[in-house]
Amino acid sequence: MDIHIPSDLGLPATADELYDIPAFGNVSLLHFTDCHAQLLPLYYREPSINLGVGKAEGRVPHLVGEALLEKFGFRPGTPQAYAFSHLNFCDAAKTYGQVGGFAHLATLVKRLKASRPHALLLDGGDSWQGSATALWTAGQDMVDASLELGVDIMTGHWEFTHGAERVRHVVEHDFKDKLAFIAQNIVHEDSTESPFQPYVMREQNGISIAIIGQAFPYTPIANGAQFTPDWTFGIDEARLQARVDEVRKKGAQVVVLLSHNGMDIDLKLASRVCGIDMILGGHTHDGVPVPIPVSNPDGVTLVTNAGSQGKFLAAIDFDVRNGRVAGYRYHLLPVFSALLPADPAMQATIERVRSPFASRLQQPIAENQELLYRRGNFNGSWDQLIVDALMQVKDAEIAFSPGFRWGTTLLPGQAITREKLMEQTAITYPDTSVVEMTGTEIRQQLEKLSDKLFNPDPYQHQGGDMVRTGGLVYACEPAAKLNGRISDMTLNGQPIQPGKTYKVARWGVGSAQSEGAPIWDVVEHYLGSGEQHARHRPNVPRLIGVASNPGLAADQAG
Ligand SMILES: [Zn+2]
Repeated sequence: MDIHIPSDLGLPATADELYDIPAFGNVSLLHFTDCHAQLLPLYYREPSINLGVGKAEGRVPHLVGEALLEKFGFRPGTPQAYAFSHLNFCDAAKTYGQVGGFAHLATLVKRLKASRPHALLLDGGDSWQGSATALWTAGQDMVDASLELGVDIMTGHWEFTHGAERVRHVVEHDFKDKLAFIAQNIVHEDSTESPFQPYVMREQNGISIAIIGQAFPYTPIANGAQFTPDWTFGIDEARLQARVDEVRKKGAQVVVLLSHNGMDIDLKLASRVCGIDMILGGHTHDGVPVPIPVSNPDGVTLVTNAGSQGKFLAAIDFDVRNGRVAGYRYHLLPVFSALLPADPAMQATIERVRSPFASRLQQPIAENQELLYRRGNFNGSWDQLIVDALMQVKDAEIAFSPGFRWGTTLLPGQAITREKLMEQTAITYPDTSVVEMTGTEIRQQLEKLSDKLFNPDPYQHQGGDMVRTGGLVYACEPAAKLNGRISDMTLNGQPIQPGKTYKVARWGVGSAQSEGAPIWDVVEHYLGSGEQHARHRPNVPRLIGVASNPGLAADQAG
């Protein structure tokens, strides 16, 4: 298989130059992932800290800022630099405008399908969560929008936080005979039976293609087992290999894994499971412009990750000859809303699903004069605002906020409306709580969570980014071993005492639930108090051993 690096990176932004992708080969797929229920155009700042440690240091996707631009040949100050990096974000956002939005995405899908009408549209999951309307309609707005967009096949993760029954209902009713929800790695407890189809087989130009589904393997650990009490999740390499062999035996000439593992897991999996041509990956929200070839005993598997929030659409074309993939083209296209007129039918669907909530969504909560973003390994200004709110409203000295990767970006001057607040907080387990934790327990908690992010074995990466801390300051050495990463914990300049008890406010704890108000009420109360005019400078730990790590942007170091 020839490894093709597109030569068109760094083009100026006209719609034709960006989006006229000549047809190639005889099999085509379109892929987006992790749209997190974002139906409208938005801003999304890519991370300035995305550290890889051990073998992953400096390896895709653990490159940010200038190192990322250099790796992929993007020039600074181009639309691609804006789409793929955090650099110069506010100015670039003003120049190139918003990204995503389902009506604009729909236009791009139609444009690409005009030259490849056989193309299948694949959604990698995390579509039914991340907005107020998705929460208030139990994902129905996204179910309707996905059908309107013409999604053929999807897998899931946050979908399951609406509960197993809700997912099954959608799959068996709304999606019946229209959209296949696939997951080979979920089984009923005490059996090997899956509640979902493990894969689908389709034909294009007489060529048989198999798409195998891989849902997020750590859903019960990351989000709480209460949502899917009767199902077991896992990476399930052995079952996956058996499925690949099965579809090959049935005549599949192209085998694709629609994966929600996260990119580090996919890179390892690709080196161990044989017979997959391409992994279309998600979950970690990495916008990776070219597929990464990974060798395994049987050949090469290409690993991709297609970003998040509806910001990108991947176009994949395979040239299949003599029963195997002989060549391919991969384009990860930024969805620049201004270059793609809204599709009228999708626009109508969006307006219909939003109309019952319109005035509630648009209600202003607070003025905003800073860049508010979330994504990054340790903290963002949006999360800083949230932990500040938790500490103030709950009268706590320390606050924890989960390391979610979703959450849109607000520019200085963009008001915080109820909708924007919900884009940071809309989950089905939003309760806040105040707990007493000893210094030892706090340290153990941080060690445990940092291991889920920085364990040298990617199969141990069980969730999102690192928990965000308010009040508590610490040092972190990502490349150290478990129980050796966290040090120098202080509160108001005083060392945290192992045996002393501290009052910690938190939210979004998957398993243990409590009676506290939902996080959006707490933040709204804080924003209404008028005391939040200070800039929310992210409390990022002092990082040890990463000074030359290309996953740390130069403007973040020191
Ligand atoms: Zn996910």
